[in-house]
Amino acid sequence: MVKDRTELLREIKDEVVAAKDSPLYEYRIKSRYFPVLGEGNHQAKIVFIGEAPGENEARTGRPFCGPAGTVLDELLESVGINRADVYITNVLKDRPPGNRDPSPEEIAFYSPFLTRQIEIIEPKVIVTLGRFSMRYIMEKFGLAGAVESISRSHGKDFSARGGPAKVITLYHPAVAVHNPSQKEILFKDFEILKRYV
Ligand code: URA
Repeated sequence: MVKDRTELLREIKDEVVAAKDSPLYEYRIKSRYFPVLGEGNHQAKIVFIGEAPGENEARTGRPFCGPAGTVLDELLESVGINRADVYITNVLKDRPPGNRDPSPEEIAFYSPFLTRQIEIIEPKVIVTLGRFSMRYIMEKFGLAGAVESISRSHGKDFSARGGPAKVITLYHPAVAVHNPSQKEILFKDFEILKRYV
């Protein structure tokens, strides 16, 4: 029998839960955290990819449910996107200690799970949130030559190869949590999504 998307995504979750070879496994267990795989519509046309779960996410197992998630919810609403219609995930599936940047080793460990999630959901558009997700996704989908700093790339869309038709690169919503001028930029950049809804 052909497995459906929900079953395939569940298999990925089970693997991450059991992944004792993860560089963040011990920290997850010691902290009594959950891994955060992703949430949303398994048939979504648009997938949003953040960096890594924060404290709130690791405590609940849900992506973008803390302060950065509140900003993301406002941004989605501003362009008429219903959170339940899209899929939201991260490059890393476990929280790094102290919300530090993901290490190259952690990205190498978790990104194959992300790649499989993308292959299962087959989105038309991937929206990257922040520089780590931007770099990984652009390199993965034929855009390595176009990678620049996020301060240059934010708010742009790119034609991709080998997966989604388009990659949209945005600042991470966390930049807006305590910074009203960055929030304004994010809201303006988000308008590019109106072309795709
Ligand atoms: N920041 C992220 O990158 N992802 C989350 O899920 C929450 C905060």
